[in-house]
Amino acid sequence: MDENKKPDCCVPEFSSGAAESADTRLRAPTSLDTQLIIPGQLWESTLTELRERSASWRESAAIFCGRVIGIEWVVKEVRFHHYLCEDRGRPRSIRLTEAAKYQLYEELCRLGLRLIAGIHTHPEDWVDLSWIDQQNQLCSRRGFWSIVVPWYGERTWKIDQMGIHIRMSEGWGRLTTEQVHRHVRIAE
Ligand SMILES: [Zn+2]
Repeated sequence: MDENKKPDCCVPEFSSGAAESADTRLRAPTSLDTQLIIPGQLWESTLTELRERSASWRESAAIFCGRVIGIEWVVKEVRFHHYLCEDRGRPRSIRLTEAAKYQLYEELCRLGLRLIAGIHTHPEDWVDLSWIDQQNQLCSRRGFWSIVVPWYGERTWKIDQMGIHIRMSEGWGRLTTEQVHRHVRIAE
């Protein structure tokens, strides 16, 4: 499978890891003290771009960047993997090269922004993070978010139909539907 290939000089590829999907639903965080806020227009245009890039056959991904203000993780901008590097999007995998990652870190440093959330598409309705997704070290900071959009982003999905994950000190947790409603806001 694609996920087992280790392309030179890049981080592990995202993968939906279908084989391990049956019993790997991530646990929900026991307590949450932050909120993810995404401007509505940016959210819609991101989903449109991911849907077009995925084109019903491959994973696509992007990174939300912004500011952390108190308990609020506020998205200001988005960067897509396929513009940052040759992402090698495949039906169950996608990558971000090390070079692209460090270039992004530098750009964000200049802009005074930081990594807020990753977002990527999966082929079917499984929206947990695969083992490879969990190992991806784009950002291991506590509070970083990771969003998984089902069915390559085709059709319009509500935020609570997606996999919304947060990085905790002990690893990744997946928010319950109620937690999504309370801690993720698509702003007008
Ligand atoms: Zn994935």
